Amino acid sequence: MTSNLGLFRNFKTIKGPVRLGDDSVIETCGCGTVMILAKTSLRHVSSRYLERVLWVPSLGSCSLLSWRAIVSLEKGFSLASSGKDMYIFRENKPEVIWGKLDGQDYVVQEEKESAKKMTYEQWHEALGHPSPDYLKSNNYSDATNLPKVPQDWQCEICITSKSTKRKPTSTTDTETRSETLFELIHFDLSGNFPQPSFGKSNYYVTFIDDCTRYAWIYPIHAKSTR
Ligand SMILES: [Zn+2]
Repeated sequence: MTSNLGLFRNFKTIKGPVRLGDDSVIETCGCGTVMILAKTSLRHVSSRYLERVLWVPSLGSCSLLSWRAIVSLEKGFSLASSGKDMYIFRENKPEVIWGKLDGQDYVVQEEKESAKKMTYEQWHEALGHPSPDYLKSNNYSDATNLPKVPQDWQCEICITSKSTKRKPTSTTDTETRSETLFELIHFDLSGNFPQPSFGKSNYYVTFIDDCTRYAWIYPIHAKSTR
């Protein structure tokens, strides 16, 4: 059977020969444990750990699962086949591995949509905080595997880092301060905010008395005088 094996765990560099059917010998470069997300014929997905998996670079991207190696574990595995399907059972439980005939080979059925197991937030962070529109476009060939953008979703980091609003620089003690009430009034207008207030205002205006630092804030609907 063939399989698209994932990453190795507990990998050890071990060199050794592998004899092929035509009596030629190729070299293994390591050995380890590999986890696959095996799909059953009932579409259940379970993680299966394959131990003592050999890494044979000259086999390229082709991964072979040896039934003889499975039998040699002596753990009660049995093999059954029906039409174009092949199943590996363990005792009387549902199959642990399901292979489907594809051309000349039985291909181990694996969950390929692992991208969907990650949330949109995780992908957004992993890809360096791109905008949803950028992800939706054709910039990634496998963007269709990504989960959908949750409704009303916002990323706090994006909002903070992309904000054009800056904290005003603090005044220092050396600066002079007015000594008389209303001698100097600081005034600022802020807006237009995309989200109006409960009172439907898109701006606010502040007046700060320089002497007392007493502040007035007024929400306003528009900047115009009318
Ligand atoms: Zn973000």
